[in-house]
Amino acid sequence: MFGVVPKALWSRKSPVDELNRVPLGLNCYVIRTGDHTILIETGAGDKMDARGRERAKLPAVVEPLPEVIARHGIDPESIDIVINSHLHWDHCSGNTVLTPQGAVAAFPRAQYFASRGEWEHAHERLERDGVAYIDANYDPLMEAEQLTLVEDGHEVVPGVRMHRASGHNRDMMVITAESRGETFCFLSDMVPTAAHLQPTWIPAFDLYPLESIETKYRWLGRISEQGWLCGFAHDPEIAFARIGTDPKTKFAIR
Ligand SMILES: [Zn+2]
Repeated sequence: MFGVVPKALWSRKSPVDELNRVPLGLNCYVIRTGDHTILIETGAGDKMDARGRERAKLPAVVEPLPEVIARHGIDPESIDIVINSHLHWDHCSGNTVLTPQGAVAAFPRAQYFASRGEWEHAHERLERDGVAYIDANYDPLMEAEQLTLVEDGHEVVPGVRMHRASGHNRDMMVITAESRGETFCFLSDMVPTAAHLQPTWIPAFDLYPLESIETKYRWLGRISEQGWLCGFAHDPEIAFARIGTDPKTKFAIR
């Protein structure tokens, strides 16, 4: 998760177990516009086998995402839009659920949105990152005409937009939502946890680390200047944060 940053430094920010695992969230956000209920990301889902789940220390039993959402007081049936920031398994595996007939939409009423470039890249199955993609998370949605592929800057509904922010991979999107003069920004894996606000603290699996640094400066500069509210894809504790500048780490929670 911290790439070339020495463990002596990152372990101060994140507790670590005997297998070098750190606690991470698989965070999903819901936006209610009045006309639409929008879900951003769908988590780790039900497609990983027992060994994979153990390796990642995921709970052995999957609680279906619609049930998690219902437990938080939101009717999962009301979700009519799902946005995937990118198609890595840990962000979209709850898009679909496995049935004897194959994988089907977990949110039957929803239209799903993902980046076109990311969709194409997912199907290339490159040696470097092919392991991050599971087609059952999005191909059945495409077949059912429930998946819309979008370009940089796409406005999903008025005020909610997807913006290409490359670095983690080429076509990952951050998502912004504007309302009453305020802006929320889902940072996705551009800044997976608050510990990654320092622009050079970049996971080893980012495909374009130099671009990650540039992208983080550009977005975090804008976010701190304009006082946006942010959400992290993987912070295990912080659900919402405002970000300011910091003389030592460049950016920090305000
Ligand atoms: Zn991720």
